[in-house]
Amino acid sequence: MDLGTAVKAPAAGQAPAPRWPSMFLLDPAQYAHARARRARAARPVRPVHPSRILPLLIAGTPCPVCGEQFMATPNAVGLLALTAHGYTPGEAARRLRTSRTQVDADLDALADGLGATNTCHAVDTGHRSGLLRLPARPRRLLHQPTAAALAVLQGMADGRTDSETGLRIGRTARAVNEAVNRFLRLHGVRTRPDGVTLLHRARLLDATHPCPCWITTGTNP
Ligand SMILES: [Zn+2]
Repeated sequence: MDLGTAVKAPAAGQAPAPRWPSMFLLDPAQYAHARARRARAARPVRPVHPSRILPLLIAGTPCPVCGEQFMATPNAVGLLALTAHGYTPGEAARRLRTSRTQVDADLDALADGLGATNTCHAVDTGHRSGLLRLPARPRRLLHQPTAAALAVLQGMADGRTDSETGLRIGRTARAVNEAVNRFLRLHGVRTRPDGVTLLHRARLLDATHPCPCWITTGTNP
């Protein structure tokens, strides 16, 4: 029965009249439900805290010369942060519920994207570009590194191999490796990228913005 017929039929005495005035109105029992539905619809949307909205890209601090910013996806920054806090690739894979192969590939892609030569350099770039946040107050180290040790540690942060750093400062690769390990052991740090983080927190490394436009005169030519 179409709607026109339904309205006309009772008048014509051909069908029983609808139970409540017409089929186009709600039964009184249904009004309460309709009111509740309207009330639910009118309820203001609860605001979501900004930290719960995942941005598409995370931006670092602007370059002081050209104003460009390093950008990375939240996943990339997440992996960089885990690495910067001493997670080995295997541990990061377990934490992110993915494979070690995937994490290795992601770390390579991350280093490429940041223009870094290795993971240590990627973490260093993350700190200098503002993709990884440093605390406002410098951290005090229990054992202040000597100038010679700092030259070794800066080489590590710059992504140089132990041999490359050794060549620059006139020491063997083995001596460089021992100096790095001594620093890590003294401060209870497990990985080199975590050491880079600690040194940045202590404000002991070159912290200039790593933008390609920036001509560094000091440690990272
Ligand atoms: Zn720039």
